[in-house]
Amino acid sequence: VRTRTDPVAAARAVAAVAAEHAAAVDREAAFPAAAVGALRAERLLPAALPERFGGLACDLPALVRIARVLAAGCGSTAMVWAMHQLQVACLARHHGDGAVLAGLLARIGAEQLLVASVTSERGVGGNIRASQAAVLGSGPERTLDKQASTVSYGRQADAFLVTARSGPDADPGDQVAVLVLREQVRLDLTGGWNPMGMRGTDSPAMRVRATVPAGQLLPVPFADVAAETMVPLSHLLWSAVWTGMAAAAYERARRMVRARHRPGATADPRLARADEVLSGLEARLGTETVHFGQCYTGERAPTVRDLARSNALKLAASTESVRVAELALETCGMAGYAEDGEFSVARILRDLYSARLMVSNDRLIAANATALMTVRRD
Ligand SMILES: Cc1cc2nc3c(=O)[nH]c(=O)nc-3n(C[C@H](O)[C@H](O)[C@H](O)COP(=O)(O)OP(=O)(O)OC[C@H]3O[C@@H](n4cnc5c(N)ncnc54)[C@H](O)[C@@H]3O)c2cc1C
Repeated sequence: VRTRTDPVAAARAVAAVAAEHAAAVDREAAFPAAAVGALRAERLLPAALPERFGGLACDLPALVRIARVLAAGCGSTAMVWAMHQLQVACLARHHGDGAVLAGLLARIGAEQLLVASVTSERGVGGNIRASQAAVLGSGPERTLDKQASTVSYGRQADAFLVTARSGPDADPGDQVAVLVLREQVRLDLTGGWNPMGMRGTDSPAMRVRATVPAGQLLPVPFADVAAETMVPLSHLLWSAVWTGMAAAAYERARRMVRARHRPGATADPRLARADEVLSGLEARLGTETVHFGQCYTGERAPTVRDLARSNALKLAASTESVRVAELALETCGMAGYAEDGEFSVARILRDLYSARLMVSNDRLIAANATALMTVRRD
């Protein structure tokens, strides 16, 4: 394990490994084992974890920067890293100083455990704020049984953060989050994984059955975890990943335009248009990273309007990143449409189409419209 002082430099080293394996990972819909090995070697897995648990305690701008750098090498690797940071941040910010959870956070730091997310569920789709599965039991142990619809790197994870109703009589929105270790869970695949893009995230449907000590339940309602950490941070880090992928597509287009250029001729104007869209996205990501800084450090809680801003960032990033990649495709022509070669943007475009589904844009638009009608714009 290396200890570089600059995590962004470490991310660049990982991105080089990820880029080398990205085509094979995509072709085989295989977990990016070499790249995640490199993340471990560079100690980048505990990036969002506080120092007292053995983490790097990266701030929001650093996390966003790392996500963008990784994404330029391999979108799936960057998304695995980003999703893991979300779980780690939720645990670190909401464990309430419970001794069991604090002990496990120290293990996550020391052993660089990989933590997966189990929020989606058959029957409730992508509404992370509703569950059918419930936590059962009242003694020292709790059990849960969840039909999860999409679990990224579930087969490779060392631990899982699972949402469920707080008890058998609880409403769908009365949820808790439970940390489950690999040795405490039985996973049964209930679906395959052969999607259009983000193939390296290895995200099949699975039935998740677990028995855990009661101390592994987060002591605050999941509603708070979602509003204060999971939703805003996921929208920032996912948007950073998509922006990084769009930047990689742009770079291929730029190199193509340069290679084709003849002195005296006008360069392909689509490059300028792609730059304009990408620059707008980068600026917005930068603004929102600063805006959410105080929420992330806990200086203030996010307001309704803040959450709407975070949803709006996700909406914009999930479609504008695709626009940049489309312009890159048009610029590169058949060389862009090819799956191989230095000007290919095929994998990037396929990967980026997942962005609008990863919590459906329709859901976020509906949530924003409902929330914003009560908030006066000043
Ligand atoms: C690459 C990738 C990795 C993922 N990894 C994970 C993971 O690790 N863990 C996890 O728990 N989940 C994961 N997910 C799941 C994801 O975040 C969503 O939960 C899931 O994609 C939602 O599935 P859905 O689109 O079928 O459901 P829904 O969100 O229910 O959408 C189904 C349909 O209903 C429409 N719809 C929904 N709500 C509305 C509305 N209010 N108004 C109008 N139309 C609406 C949508 O447009 C869509 O057509 C991942 C998804 C992707 C793409």
